[in-house]
Amino acid sequence: MASFLIKRLLFIGLLISSCSCAAEWYQKQFEVMGTQAKVEFEFDDSKYADSLIEKVVAEMHRIDHLMSPYKSDSELSKINQKASQHPVIISDELFELLQKSEYYSELTNGAFDISFSSIGYLYDFRKHQRPDKVQIKALTPQINYQGVRLNKVDKSVKFVNDKIKIDLGGIAKGHAVDRCIDILVKNGVKNAFINAGGDSRVIGKKNGRLWYIGIRHPRDEGKLIVNLPLEEVAISTSGDYERFFIEDGIRYHHIIDPKTGDSVRKSQSVTILANTSTIADALSTSIFVLGSQKGLELVNKLPNVSAIIINESGKMMYSDDLVSPNG
Ligand code: ADP
Ligand code: MG
Repeated sequence: MASFLIKRLLFIGLLISSCSCAAEWYQKQFEVMGTQAKVEFEFDDSKYADSLIEKVVAEMHRIDHLMSPYKSDSELSKINQKASQHPVIISDELFELLQKSEYYSELTNGAFDISFSSIGYLYDFRKHQRPDKVQIKALTPQINYQGVRLNKVDKSVKFVNDKIKIDLGGIAKGHAVDRCIDILVKNGVKNAFINAGGDSRVIGKKNGRLWYIGIRHPRDEGKLIVNLPLEEVAISTSGDYERFFIEDGIRYHHIIDPKTGDSVRKSQSVTILANTSTIADALSTSIFVLGSQKGLELVNKLPNVSAIIINESGKMMYSDDLVSPNG
């Protein structure tokens, strides 16, 4: 297993003694947004700890109900049902996430595009279903974030045609993790870990030491390829092994190239470190689509963003700010 030192997180080896107060660690694992989530934190009020856990769980479910494309009464589904007919006024929270999505589309030259769903909705990885050639030809040109018009004045969204569909699967879990970290911080928590699927964020320390988060081997579930020492950072991994099926030796998975309407096969996994989970989530999906060369070029230009990429042949590549012990 390779081990990394991250310049900006360099651990000087100081033994920081853990707090001698009566604080204890609390944790809960639960299912939400079609994936496993976990919250873990240190807190000095045992009576209030359980209700804090419940607040975090409720927040994740609230966001799922707002943004799930699978729930027909979610706010996102209402947009997909109506926005081609007339502008749909939406909540501030969803509007802001649509604005952020638009920002990442611009930043990545369209690699990140929530309208991937115009074709993406035809994939079902559990049922091994994918769009056929005719559907791909007809619907891929509809993938275009510029066809999703946001009106800042009344916080409404309008689609330019009735073929467009949007899906926030590439950014919503990161947003949910950030919201849950905010809840913990507002309640006085200093040391915590929150995870939803491939998106995690840590604050403070774990028993006075850095947090360790592993990146799994993309082709061997039981193995880690690297274990990262982390502090005050969000980390997201996008992989081609989460939701996929293999047909005639070709891997079909959930990250879609907006230019082709097909799964992207330039990488096996992309891990992004950033200040917030929303940034890390959007960029892990984006860099996966861009591939290692263009992806690292972009990451190297962005402040406070690092990347670790396992390319299509299994080779590990990383951004300039990361150093391995071997140089
Ligand atoms: P996970 O949902 O497993 O954490 P990612 O963060 O990598 O994985 O996001 C993958 C999800 O992003 C897909 O399931 C889909 O909802 C969405 N998505 C797929 N392709 C794109 C794309 N080109 N731009 C934006 N979102 C995408
Ligand atoms: Mg993502």
